[in-house]
Amino acid sequence: MAEIQIRNVAKTFGAYRALRDINLTIADQEFMVLLGASGCGKTTLLRIVAGLETATTGEVWIGGRRVDHLPPKDRGIAMVFQNYAVFPHLTVFENIGFGLRMQKLPETEVRLRVERCATLMHIEQLLKRYSGELSGGQRQRVAVARALAMEPDVILMDEPLSNLDALLRLEMRAELKGVLAESRTTAIYVTHDQVEAMSLADRISVMYQGRIVQAATPIEVYRNPGTEFVAGFIGNPPMNFLSAEPLGQGKWRVAGQEVTGPVIADPLKFAIRPEDLVPGDAGLPATARIVEPLGAHLLVTCDVDGSMFRAVLDSDLKVSPGDRLTLTPQSDRIRWFDPETTRAVA
Ligand code: ATP
Repeated sequence: MAEIQIRNVAKTFGAYRALRDINLTIADQEFMVLLGASGCGKTTLLRIVAGLETATTGEVWIGGRRVDHLPPKDRGIAMVFQNYAVFPHLTVFENIGFGLRMQKLPETEVRLRVERCATLMHIEQLLKRYSGELSGGQRQRVAVARALAMEPDVILMDEPLSNLDALLRLEMRAELKGVLAESRTTAIYVTHDQVEAMSLADRISVMYQGRIVQAATPIEVYRNPGTEFVAGFIGNPPMNFLSAEPLGQGKWRVAGQEVTGPVIADPLKFAIRPEDLVPGDAGLPATARIVEPLGAHLLVTCDVDGSMFRAVLDSDLKVSPGDRLTLTPQSDRIRWFDPETTRAVA
């Protein structure tokens, strides 16, 4: 059992508050992704769990044991960081077995584990090569294999795929997901890449300015973003927003059209994803400005009620800049946000 609990963790660097009251429980064997823009505190939080950084206040528990006073080596964790510290003067075998030999495991056990993890990462043919001779992607695999060979309860990864080219990144992403599910390891994975987060995570914690603003499954974060920030951050292109005036009894005026929504007396923001719009006879009046054929879809940037609005439409549609369209929002996909608090309204 390796549940991780982060309790009331805050971190200040001088006067700067990098983390504010973080509370998060990561279930045994769960794959948790910390996602957010540069500087939001992801790496700091991971380093606090690892023991490479001390929290200013708060506690970290792993497997029912309070660990925030323990050094990294006593926390039952393995780490894979962006600038993977693979020793160039050691062979792949020696690199993967490094931690195991440090633990003075019998050589037969070292060999068994190294070979198994190398096979998992598809680098078994490289075991005799010096790591300095490998490509970035191969070295990355060595770093992951070395972490897995320790058979840790918890694996912590900080942008482990960031140095790979797009294709290799895609391939490694799928491999990592399979390997970690198989090894039943609890994982925390830091990235600023939302596609990577969506594809890997059991749950995503979206961070913003030192706080976790939403922790939920990828589909929940995507379909029901808790705040305007999450709505704008997740999804590419991001959600569209329009101001909505209450007409009473759950009726709203949006871009001159009547739309059904929550029964609230104060103005709200209406939100819809670009892919949840279809051209129809009734709906939001739009003027196409930019038309981008993306192969699978047509991305149309339009003007709706003076606001920029994007629609992802069927690639067979003929749309040219200047065309007038009527975009029908799929009613069950409409979301509403309070402009004061920026929070989602049910
Ligand atoms: P990135 O994706 O760019 O790595 P991040 O979300 O991981 O960003 P952190 O590295 O956790 O962000 O940094 C959070 C904030 O804390 C940043 O504003 C950073 O400048 C600050 N910070 C981090 N480490 C230190 C330090 N040792 N001293 C002072 N400030 C720091």
